[in-house]
Amino acid sequence: MAQFKTFEARVLRSSPLSEFTQHIELEVSGVPRFGFAPGQWLSVKATTPEGEEITRAYSIASPPSENGHFAFCLNRVQDGFMSNYLCSLAEGSPVAFQGPFGDFILRPPLRDTIFIATGTGIAPFRSMLHWLLADRERHQERQFWLLFGARREQDIYYREEFQGLAAEHRNFHFLPTLSRGAAEWNGLRGYVQQHLGEIVGMRSDMHAYICGLDKMVKANRELLKSLGWDRTSIRCEKYD
Ligand SMILES: Cc1cc2nc3c(=O)[nH]c(=O)nc-3n(C[C@H](O)[C@H](O)[C@H](O)COP(=O)(O)OP(=O)(O)OC[C@H]3O[C@@H](n4cnc5c(N)ncnc54)[C@H](O)[C@@H]3O)c2cc1C
Repeated sequence: MAQFKTFEARVLRSSPLSEFTQHIELEVSGVPRFGFAPGQWLSVKATTPEGEEITRAYSIASPPSENGHFAFCLNRVQDGFMSNYLCSLAEGSPVAFQGPFGDFILRPPLRDTIFIATGTGIAPFRSMLHWLLADRERHQERQFWLLFGARREQDIYYREEFQGLAAEHRNFHFLPTLSRGAAEWNGLRGYVQQHLGEIVGMRSDMHAYICGLDKMVKANRELLKSLGWDRTSIRCEKYD
């Protein structure tokens, strides 16, 4: 079996995105440049208090950078070791990982694209969208929709950032939808799959990227297939 190099990164900053979710910025140590494609993930290693070494996958939540910096968007999973361990790390703590891995990456030729996420499934899309929109030659003025499902308004991670991108780029549409929105919420309500049909309409010449928990990924993929989409136009990343 192939042996992958283990890298070490250090936590630069860790800040809460909501009660159980953390945005963590890290810096890879000892390498001049750390390359990856937007959408890829890293395999993080840690040792449990019982002495067991475990690995878990985490999507990179930032675009490629020249300085070896990258970010994670992490959700604390109840009774899970790794997610709680990473969310509790102090600044300066070391994190061992291998990678990058994964083929959940933007596939050429670029088409109008819908990105569908719930929860921390937003992570690879934060990487892809920042990368794409930073350069006209990359985004080619294609249309992009980010359909992001959350429970409440305070669970819309990176809200100001995506609103800023949407204000700056007429071809980017940020569509958060809340399953438990308060009475004063003026945006979309319900689950992501309840809005997918109205966004894509009769079109099946687009690409779709779906990321999050299995149930949501399946529901959206099946819906797109029932609308006549070819399965090769739909790419999925499941977290569970
Ligand atoms: C390719 C890939 C990328 C991923 N990227 C991210 C990411 O960017 N951010 C992130 O927070 N997680 C991500 N995950 C999930 C992550 O790898 C772990 O599964 C998660 O952090 C739980 O690990 P744990 O050791 O804390 O708990 P474990 O003891 O491994 O899991 C406890 C239970 O929680 C379930 N579970 C796993 N993930 C979730 C979840 N996100 N929400 C609810 N239940 C879950 C598991 O099926 C298991 O039953 C990704 C998974 C994959 C496969």
